[in-house]
Amino acid sequence: MCGIVGYVGYRQAMPILIDSLKRLEYRGYDSCGLALMDQNIQVYKDVGRIEWMEGNLPRCNSCMGIGHTRWATHGIVSKTNAHPHVDCSEKIAVVHNGIIENFQALRDKLTEEGHTFVSQTDTEVIPHLVEKYYNGDLVSSVKRALQDIRGSYAFILMLRGDTRLIVGRKESPLVIGLGDGENFIASDVPALLEYTDRFIYLEDGDLAILS
Ligand code: GLU
Repeated sequence: MCGIVGYVGYRQAMPILIDSLKRLEYRGYDSCGLALMDQNIQVYKDVGRIEWMEGNLPRCNSCMGIGHTRWATHGIVSKTNAHPHVDCSEKIAVVHNGIIENFQALRDKLTEEGHTFVSQTDTEVIPHLVEKYYNGDLVSSVKRALQDIRGSYAFILMLRGDTRLIVGRKESPLVIGLGDGENFIASDVPALLEYTDRFIYLEDGDLAILS
């Protein structure tokens, strides 16, 4: 199982993401990671427990970020394979639960086209596909990338300099938590009960924008 979380609002994102990830620990995981929107996207990952990663995190005042607990399906349990994953220019960061069935064909094609992969995961094709199709319109490039993907997913994606989280699901759970001046996203309601009691459950094929 494992889990994903995201936050965009006015509070510091890091403690909220850590807290929400801990509330998803019951789902099991082997590694974890965060990406925070700063001038650049800052990515922090670790193998093992969220507490271990937490102990090594620098101070960060960012009000927007995404988090992940991984249950490895493609690629060994390692820091490199932990999420978030990014594109070549590190401007797009993605966390993902699920399996991209046609990842090898996509990876081969993207590699031929000049993209450089650093992990063994199926997930890493997502940021590279969005990078490939990005034409200044993030939502349409995500939609275009999803057309190429076969498999199951719940994902959260962010783009450097953009104040939105793009989220979507297919055969993997995802719920939006609504706040006032802030919004949350997670694999499951318990992650967010501390912050809101207003939820929107996404359905298969849904794509949503959190701002
Ligand atoms: N298939 C992805 C991986 O192996 C995501 C696994 C998960 O759902 O945590 O990294």
